[in-house]
Amino acid sequence: MALLTIQNLALGYDAHAIVQGLNFSVSSGDYLCIVGENGSGKTTLIKALLHLQEPISGQILIGDGLRKNEIGYLPQQTVVQKDFPASVREIVLSGCQGRCGFRPFYRKEEKQLAEDNMARMGISALANHCYRELSGGQQQRVLLARALCATQKALLLDEPVSGLDPKGTSEMYHLIAQLNREGIAIIMVSHDIAAAVRYASHILHIGAAVFYGTREAYLQSDVGKCFLTHQKGGEA
Ligand code: ADP
Repeated sequence: MALLTIQNLALGYDAHAIVQGLNFSVSSGDYLCIVGENGSGKTTLIKALLHLQEPISGQILIGDGLRKNEIGYLPQQTVVQKDFPASVREIVLSGCQGRCGFRPFYRKEEKQLAEDNMARMGISALANHCYRELSGGQQQRVLLARALCATQKALLLDEPVSGLDPKGTSEMYHLIAQLNREGIAIIMVSHDIAAAVRYASHILHIGAAVFYGTREAYLQSDVGKCFLTHQKGGEA
């Protein structure tokens, strides 16, 4: 069974559906990009996948050993978050909170997990630095290390390269692709359609038309062709 199976999902506010008819699945090793126009419901879908919002109808089923709160989440950074006055180690460790339950301290294994994930993201030397003094690219590595403390199976990334310069963007995409090669399923919301069609194994397009399928099928579909042309026109 897939890690996530989404069946006939309708999402919205006050019983008014913003997006409906969503059917897709995410299996171990998949790289799913979620694309669509502004206001099409991508953030609303993220909230539903994180169990922060109840669907109007339909189901989100979990399988393949994935536990309910075991999706690592990398939020889109706000100005306030960028200025967070904590050390890198404290922020990465906070990714272990789901493992602590009501226990008010971290165990040795959790501290080791944080150290291991800082090493994995190449930020061990920054462990005692203040988060707000780091570059945008370093901050994203810290948030990835934190998300990895919550999961070995699936990462949900909301616009992970937003605000990064070209070098930081390229490094971030390489890190995400590396984690995917290591077997972690990636679910990424992105405005960067070029990156989506470069890296994704599957694409979910939401909006006036809904599409879900492989990257190749998306590139051949009317929805995909139309969106790609529109996006390229917008960039020109
Ligand atoms: P996207 O992330 O694709 O830009 P969103 O999921 O943020 O889209 O929003 C989808 C639609 O839902 C928009 O029309 C937005 O105005 C509306 N919306 C978002 N949050 C709320 C809310 N808390 N209450 C009512 N409507 C909302």
